[in-house]
Amino acid sequence: MQLHQLKDEFVLEVVNRIHPETNTSLNGLYQSSGNFCTQCEAHGFRQITYYLDRPDVLSVFTTHIIADKDKYPVLLSNGNLIKESAGKVTWHDPTSKPCYLFALVAGDFAVLEDGYTTLSGREVALKIYVEHHNISKTQFAMDSLKRSFAWDESRFNLEYDLDIYMIVAVDDFNMGAMENKGLNIFNSAYVLADPKTATDKDFINVEAVIGHEYFHNWTGNRVTCRDWFQLSLKEGLTVFRDQEFTSDLHSRSIKRIEDVNALRTFQFAEDAGPMKHPVRPESYIEMNNFYTLTIYEKGAEVIRMIHSLLGEAGFQKGMKLYFERHDGDAVTIDDFVASMSDANNFDFEPFMTWYTQPGTPTISIVSNYDEGSQRLSVEVQQLNEYDYLLPLNYALLDAEGAIFKQGVLNINQKNQTFVFDDVDSEPTASWLRGFSAPVNLLTDLDFKQKIFLVGHEEDAFSVWDNAQQIWLSLIMTPDKVDEDLFFDAIEKVIKDTEDKSLISEILTLPSERFMHQQVDVIDVFDIHQKREMVIKKILNRFESLLLETYYSLINDGNYELTPEAVGQRSLKNICLYYLSKGQHIDLANSQFNNATCMSEQIAAFNALLGTDNQYQDLAKSSFYQTFKEDVQVMDKFFAAQSTSPLANVTDIQRLMEHELFSFNTPNRLRSVIGGFSQNYVNFHNQAGYEFFTDIILKLNKTNPQIGARLVSVYNHWKRFTPELKKLQQQQLEKIIQSDDLSKDIFEIVQAALK
Ligand SMILES: [Zn+2]
Repeated sequence: MQLHQLKDEFVLEVVNRIHPETNTSLNGLYQSSGNFCTQCEAHGFRQITYYLDRPDVLSVFTTHIIADKDKYPVLLSNGNLIKESAGKVTWHDPTSKPCYLFALVAGDFAVLEDGYTTLSGREVALKIYVEHHNISKTQFAMDSLKRSFAWDESRFNLEYDLDIYMIVAVDDFNMGAMENKGLNIFNSAYVLADPKTATDKDFINVEAVIGHEYFHNWTGNRVTCRDWFQLSLKEGLTVFRDQEFTSDLHSRSIKRIEDVNALRTFQFAEDAGPMKHPVRPESYIEMNNFYTLTIYEKGAEVIRMIHSLLGEAGFQKGMKLYFERHDGDAVTIDDFVASMSDANNFDFEPFMTWYTQPGTPTISIVSNYDEGSQRLSVEVQQLNEYDYLLPLNYALLDAEGAIFKQGVLNINQKNQTFVFDDVDSEPTASWLRGFSAPVNLLTDLDFKQKIFLVGHEEDAFSVWDNAQQIWLSLIMTPDKVDEDLFFDAIEKVIKDTEDKSLISEILTLPSERFMHQQVDVIDVFDIHQKREMVIKKILNRFESLLLETYYSLINDGNYELTPEAVGQRSLKNICLYYLSKGQHIDLANSQFNNATCMSEQIAAFNALLGTDNQYQDLAKSSFYQTFKEDVQVMDKFFAAQSTSPLANVTDIQRLMEHELFSFNTPNRLRSVIGGFSQNYVNFHNQAGYEFFTDIILKLNKTNPQIGARLVSVYNHWKRFTPELKKLQQQQLEKIIQSDDLSKDIFEIVQAALK
């Protein structure tokens, strides 16, 4: 549309008619379970009306909603409710905001209400809206919301600025949640939780996502992005903030291990594939394809490095200056870094490579100890086209395992040598403690030294990381590892480590997906078999210890979310995982039947579906009968079946015919189709690919955003064994040649084929 011959000032009235009831893309205004809701980031608002749909166009919104009051008794928008009569409301948001933060909800909901008084005394009404039958599962979300308000006040000195904060949960949602000003809209999976239906991980995720969207009120809403290339300005920073929130409230070391594991498994793969892009991308065809792990997770790692380089006090000084300068503005990543820089007199110029270059940097470390001069010299080399500035956290351990020196080296050149004097015997060095930078690290440590670190490092991340490296070698090159020496160290970990979550992380093998990145040619079957071999070895060596540990952890039925209680359950479940692959499937059956919470129940259910056994059919029907009314548990029910090592294409087609399968609900689609695409040995064949491609072509018409996410399964096709490589290429070509291909799917597929 174009407007001509306009005066300097004018009023433009646009009247338009839209059909949210047929909108399956879940962008703009659409329906979920009969209720109306919106998703406007990145470009959804333009599907509702003509508008200057850019994040740097800030306006004050007044929203009138008129609806049938019996069908839609709840009518919500951003800001404060200023007028209300039957079937008619007016909302006014006094803050100036871009239209991607606009939200509207109309429907029939139950509401949980509470309140929060901010540090400066503002009374804020808190409301969580859900479908009526879900109201009993909202208390944890409310408590999480209050913890988020309190944490942002105590750690960042940031308060909420309106009189009302609302959350609405809907089942049909493409992403996790959306931070619309004063009116968050959530995927119901990140609101609803009780111990009978949610795992420990679900609880912690609900709290983290509630926190994340709340923290956006400052980092995203009050200071927003000038354009979408700056997306990581709000997302990297807010992910860093939600990671810190979870770390402060739960186990910091376990949170770090989980985050790094996810980063290295998924983001490093993205950074090594056809869709790799800098944290600040330079171009896109469809913005929705850039809500990526690189923008979010690598972006958060980049913020974490700024935090490490400046320390907490310096970082907070930078945040303060950032808000003083830019509150109410639409700004850039450069503006953020300039605030950090100016508040601390720190030169971040050499650091900007992290924002401008794609790919994961590789750092190599070689140490040389000279006994005569009692000197340790360490050569650090960057094996990249560009040089990065990064903090390298380290410790030196003596022969008894005591740390006698630790600190942070600032790496900022291609080659650097660091010298440590007065080192009176050859130390074992631990590098990149806490994963202080998102890099691939090559060191000259041998297996003995890595095993020594597993036994002696104080940094939980390093213990876990060294164990992971040895597991990986034991799987891929078993002849090169002294298995007995390593298993002795593992036995000591199981017997002596206090932190039970840490034991269970250490006992968890690297995933097949992670291993696919460590090889030149991906042979899914070979990798699967080699990994299964190590599972057998673990069972052979540790069966009785695992049994003994399992029985020592039988709980009393009280559900708590303390790190200790979470640790007990996670160790119990990893023991069950191994034992049920051996002679103890009866243990899984008894845990399934006697479980007092979902963490125990789903682990047992997965174990029963993991092997061929007589309990399976009964478990499936009893699980279904118990939980069929619960959407979140049914997603687990479907995912357990689609990822089972026994599932084939026919089983997946049968799941899609199930009365509770819904093609237009992203969570359900992810649990069935997404789950199957990660079921490597069963998915990777001609039938699997052809089935999957048909799904993509159907999604191209209904929900291209989800289609684009799923089709990235083929992104690494060039690295597969010749037969699978050819089959995947054929699928990609079939997709790109199909009619009316959406921008979303086209962008991913053409990059993959390049
Ligand atoms: Zn976000």
